[in-house]
Amino acid sequence: MTTVSDFPAAAGPEADGVDAAVAAARSAQPGWDALGFAGRRKVLLAWCTLILRRSDELISLIRAETGKTADDARLEVVLVAHHLRWTATHAARVLGRRRVSPGLLMFNHSVEVTHRPLGVVGVIGPWNYPAFIPVGPVSAALAAGNTVVLKPSEQTPKTGEWLAATLAEVTGAPRVLHVVQGDGAAGAALCRAAVDKVSFTGSSATGRRVMAACAENLTPVVIEGGGKDAMVVAADADLDAAADAAVWAAMTNAGQTCVGLERVYVVGAVADRFLDLVAERAAGLRVGDGADADLGRIVLPKQLDVIAAHVRDALARGARAVVGGPHSITPPYAAPVVLADVPEDSAAVTEETFGPVLVVNRVTTVDEAVARANAGGYGLGAAVFSRDRDGGRSIAARLRAGMVSVNAVIAFAGMPAVPFGGVGDSGFGRVHGPEGLREFTRTQAITSQRFRPLMHPTSFRRGPGTMPTLVRMVRTLYGR
Ligand code: NAD
Repeated sequence: MTTVSDFPAAAGPEADGVDAAVAAARSAQPGWDALGFAGRRKVLLAWCTLILRRSDELISLIRAETGKTADDARLEVVLVAHHLRWTATHAARVLGRRRVSPGLLMFNHSVEVTHRPLGVVGVIGPWNYPAFIPVGPVSAALAAGNTVVLKPSEQTPKTGEWLAATLAEVTGAPRVLHVVQGDGAAGAALCRAAVDKVSFTGSSATGRRVMAACAENLTPVVIEGGGKDAMVVAADADLDAAADAAVWAAMTNAGQTCVGLERVYVVGAVADRFLDLVAERAAGLRVGDGADADLGRIVLPKQLDVIAAHVRDALARGARAVVGGPHSITPPYAAPVVLADVPEDSAAVTEETFGPVLVVNRVTTVDEAVARANAGGYGLGAAVFSRDRDGGRSIAARLRAGMVSVNAVIAFAGMPAVPFGGVGDSGFGRVHGPEGLREFTRTQAITSQRFRPLMHPTSFRRGPGTMPTLVRMVRTLYGR
């Protein structure tokens, strides 16, 4: 296992390149900030238009770098535009100056709260959604008036470069989005550079290293880590819809989705029927690089070993392979695997598989389903299926997850106003929505005295009766 010291703070080509990018971003920041919300909105919307006009290019790049199916890449570009547009349009409302009540005691003041940019934000991205994931924090940081240095995954350098180049076409010089390329060493150098915040998306193990490196300069971080999302299927669920959703959420992008579904807890009375429906759908999926493929390749060769190990371990412990099995892994592909009755301490239940493997375990009650879903360290997304929507929402509220979809899967990712992020091993901080915008700002409150008060408790020139009168007043107001 690599540790923090694998990427020590040594000077080197990574650090030099990163420092130069941060310096360039720093010098571009005041001018970008001075554009104000309206000016930045115009630029970001023009970027969105350009991305859509050249979406075929972006789709090809994403496919070339990740082996995604055409539909998976198309969906990614749709999400990029949807989120970018929301962020550009709503930044002024969310972050603009707002008046706050001074309260009774200080009624002679007026107060305004503003959200100022932090300066330069470092964004470290993963390869699984190489455009959609970075665009979340990049667009929020930019809309708030920061400039950005992006380190894309070493698996998807060209997609990162394309994003920065298209934005530069709109902004001209100086660039407000800089890209540094490289592996973990470049990422570590960015964490140690003179940035004002780091937004990291990747595995939880790397997230710990990122946080340790950022701690050296007390640089704040957002950690969007891994997940082990679960679905709860209640006895009254629409089983057809639940099975369809489960298979898509588990197999889309060949299972390489942070909020991909890896576990289902289904109530015993409907478990057999649900499993039949899941098996029927999963077995019919096509794998490969053909135009009609539903699942593309597994990007990291070492992930194929993890997927195979999880499947073998589960079977060795007594799980049943309902669809596929160890033979489903034929590098660089992994075909759908559905496992049933998997012991809860197997790696396929406790660790992120990040491949097209779905565990379906039966439970006696919804309470048991909730307890099992909440048992692991991760807490990213989750789903609930129940025909009783209120009941579904109350099950959702008991799940330890950042986002839960009721009678749908991963719905939150298609809603730009919805904050996205996890708890526990899945990390902390939020991207998307108002919370995602505020993440890249510092809050400043300015109070302004409008007139001198009759009593002046915060002065040594106050009279002897001032404080007793104040206490009497507060008792009258709040003490009953
Ligand atoms: P990863 O952790 O291997 O790499 C992520 C990024 O971190 C890459 O750019 C990498 O170069 C960089 N990096 C590696 N070591 C570093 C270090 N020491 N310091 C700084 N940066 C470093 O993850 P990955 O394989 O690219 O992505 C898959 C993982 O990401 C999965 O665990 C998945 O669940 C997670 N993910 C999470 C979200 C989310 O929003 N929570 C979204 C997508 C992916």
